[in-house]
Amino acid sequence: MSALIQQGVPLSAHTTLGLGGAAQYFAQVDTREALLEALQWAQQQRVQVTVLGGGSNVVVSDQGVAGLVVKLRTRGVTLAEGGVLRSEAGEDWDGLVQHCVAQNLAGIECLSGIPGSVGAAPVQNIGAYGQELADCVRSVEVLDLSTLTTAQVARADCQFDYRNSRWKRAPGREIVLGVELALQVNGAPSVRYPELQRALASSPLSLPGVRRAVLDLRRGKSMVLDPSDENGRSVGSFFLNPIVSVELADIVLKRAGTAGLIRDPSELPRYPQADGAIKLSAAWLIERSGTHKGERLGAVGVSSRHSLALVHHGGGKTADLVALADTVRARVRAVFGIELVPEPVWLGFDRS
Ligand code: NAP
Repeated sequence: MSALIQQGVPLSAHTTLGLGGAAQYFAQVDTREALLEALQWAQQQRVQVTVLGGGSNVVVSDQGVAGLVVKLRTRGVTLAEGGVLRSEAGEDWDGLVQHCVAQNLAGIECLSGIPGSVGAAPVQNIGAYGQELADCVRSVEVLDLSTLTTAQVARADCQFDYRNSRWKRAPGREIVLGVELALQVNGAPSVRYPELQRALASSPLSLPGVRRAVLDLRRGKSMVLDPSDENGRSVGSFFLNPIVSVELADIVLKRAGTAGLIRDPSELPRYPQADGAIKLSAAWLIERSGTHKGERLGAVGVSSRHSLALVHHGGGKTADLVALADTVRARVRAVFGIELVPEPVWLGFDRS
């Protein structure tokens, strides 16, 4: 076995949920050379490869993960002319945002405080407060897992969509090695959401100010990684906000009215999308269908600060979390007829 590869490594220590079984084989790689060596070993052994970044958006099965789990820790950030920034996949995402804000580079300031690695950011097309990664991606460098060759994927080929990308649509084919972002040198901060506008109302607009305000807002909802936070062990938002047709949104509105959950149609949050679809608030649907903040189910529960986050309080199993997620989904389905889709990636089992 390669010197790099360990056997039976518990993945709970490598995920923010602190749940799940062990990786059959595990390698932490700090360089592209080490990554290639580990992948060649996996090819020789004919075992499947799973890539782990910060472990902040994954749910690991209690049975663990078969094959090789590679924890990607490659580092390096370079800034070229005109605000073009390149970062290796293993960099910490929030560290990169902090660096850009300090360099007066605008474009990702609202994405402050999102846990995880740079490599995971395009997979998920991370977004917050009206900004999403796809807005500033120029290209993504990838490694093809079957040929072990690298390629540069242009933005147009990334298949970006709401919290979605070509890597989320077809997992297991390519590893993200790095991203190239087009940022605005001395650009104006982006402040689109009213909640953020209100938080910034009394101070002059600046990139550091926006970053501070976003971090404060997120902290208030236990949405920054903080080991001392009782809601700290989570994957952030557990469900995607549903994007539905106008007809379906109207059905939800009708059901909410019939169930006596609203007195006025304006009480149902509806965010029209550019293509005419309607984004609904998953948190609103969850709370109105009978799930409440702080609810517990043994060792897991709903965050006391945000109904969209499911939390592990310690000593639990992934199966407990799955049972809680199923309960939350079933309530939303029963009241509104909406099927909530989980946001995290499931490792070691096949489910959606
Ligand atoms: P919120 O104010 O409770 O609103 C619920 C949802 O409504 C948000 O998720 C947001 O969708 C949408 N929304 C709110 N105002 C909007 C507007 N003016 N235009 C369009 N859509 C709007 O939101 P929250 O849960 O506290 O989150 C605030 C922001 O931080 C959101 O952008 C959210 O995505 C982001 N966030 C993400 C995570 C994560 O784990 N992925 C965790 C915490 C916060 P969008 O999510 O599409 O923006």
